[in-house]
Amino acid sequence: MSMDLPVAPNPRGNVIPKVYSEYVIEKEALRLTEVIKQPKRWTFEHCKTIAPYTLEINELKKDKDVYLIAHSYQTPDIVYGVADEVSDSYSLSKSARDAEQQIILFSSVRFMAETAKILSPSKLVLHPSPEAGCSLSESITAQDVRDLKEKYPGVPVACYINTTAEVKAEVDVCVTSSNYLKICENLPGDKLIFVPDRFMGEHLQNSLQGKKEVIIYDGECEVHALFTGEKVLSWKERASEAGINLQVLSHPECAADVLEESDIIGSSEVLIKESIRLGKEGFNNIMLITECGTADRVMAETKDELNIIGTCVMCRHMKTTLLEDILQALREPSSEQIIELDKEVIEKAKSSLDEMFRYAEL
Ligand code: SF4
Repeated sequence: MSMDLPVAPNPRGNVIPKVYSEYVIEKEALRLTEVIKQPKRWTFEHCKTIAPYTLEINELKKDKDVYLIAHSYQTPDIVYGVADEVSDSYSLSKSARDAEQQIILFSSVRFMAETAKILSPSKLVLHPSPEAGCSLSESITAQDVRDLKEKYPGVPVACYINTTAEVKAEVDVCVTSSNYLKICENLPGDKLIFVPDRFMGEHLQNSLQGKKEVIIYDGECEVHALFTGEKVLSWKERASEAGINLQVLSHPECAADVLEESDIIGSSEVLIKESIRLGKEGFNNIMLITECGTADRVMAETKDELNIIGTCVMCRHMKTTLLEDILQALREPSSEQIIELDKEVIEKAKSSLDEMFRYAEL
């Protein structure tokens, strides 16, 4: 039993990289195969094809003093080939704020690049794939939040970070998958509105049972919504029949019946760290119920032989970005690749993000 991962993406060929010598390309391809650590999927030959892109991107980053951050769901060629830092949305939003560089390139979906701009309004924030959205962030508008506030006056509103800048500007506090339980528990009052993820909202309601009422919105992540408790149970049964002691690790964007079948629930960073810890303790059979990028990172970052079982789901939005989009944005960004936000929206959205940092560090 093993995990089915999608094939390594090929360049579209719309952006032609600089020409390098065969020696330089082979050396870079070797580096890529060593850091990605998936030689069957990311073969030496494939890495030779993408090497001119990673070489030129790394040169441009240095020349233009750009800090390139990538979300864990980006493909391994981006994560290990060109990113200065890779993590989940909470850590990356802090890194964007604290980076010394005045140019940030955020390889991810639009709302994350917007978050970087909110936290660093004076910096130039580049987003290489303007079309890369997110089903969760698109499920709610600022007007929807205003309507909820009118319906439940005085009730604090917490929003998952997977939302547009305009939505963040309407709420009291933002949260991420690594801090939503802590922050929501500490909000004043016995009631809160949680938007937009209904699964995370349900998990929150179950965790705060008897302490707070959670008013839940109806959005969902189209990736994590595809997992069901029934599917996870059937994988667990098959593993058990094969004599495998399976550890199930799930992201809180999954439905309640999936979380009930899980041994560990956490953000991408928690799932990666816990997988590595389990491997070290001899629990080598792992099932990751989340986007495929998490499995890519576990494979690249563990020295232990882990058997990753089951299947993952690929986020079409996250996987929109290719190396050539990054290269093009670094060479000469189009106006769509530069994040611009209304000043008032930035100020209001920043206050809900600052509240997140304050509550998370309590
Ligand atoms: S995985 Fe889900 S929440 Fe994350 S960007 Fe894709 S659609 Fe949005």
